[in-house]
Amino acid sequence: MGKKDDEKAIAKERIAILFELGKKCAKKEPKLAARYVLLAKKIGMRYNVSLGRESKKLFCRNCFAYFVPGANCRVRTLSDKQSVSIKCLSCNFQAYFPYIKEKMKRKEN
Ligand SMILES: [Zn+2]
Repeated sequence: MGKKDDEKAIAKERIAILFELGKKCAKKEPKLAARYVLLAKKIGMRYNVSLGRESKKLFCRNCFAYFVPGANCRVRTLSDKQSVSIKCLSCNFQAYFPYIKEKMKRKEN
């Protein structure tokens, strides 16, 4: 592993820790949780590390609120569009996540 790989591994670890911290305080201290999310995103951008497909559903892309289902976001399954929508109740931003994307990609190949 080169130096860059080491840096990326460390960045990934830090991101995971920040998401853990965000998760823990999301209910009681949403502003702090949003700060952790923003930090994680900054680290990801700096080291060109993806936050992971699943973690994208954990926070709001617009205001970085860490989602607490039933508290600050509304999750809906849209069967006709075959996607999941998550609406942030702090800023009203709505994100869509198609859940058959992977399958379709595989078919194309
Ligand atoms: Zn938001």
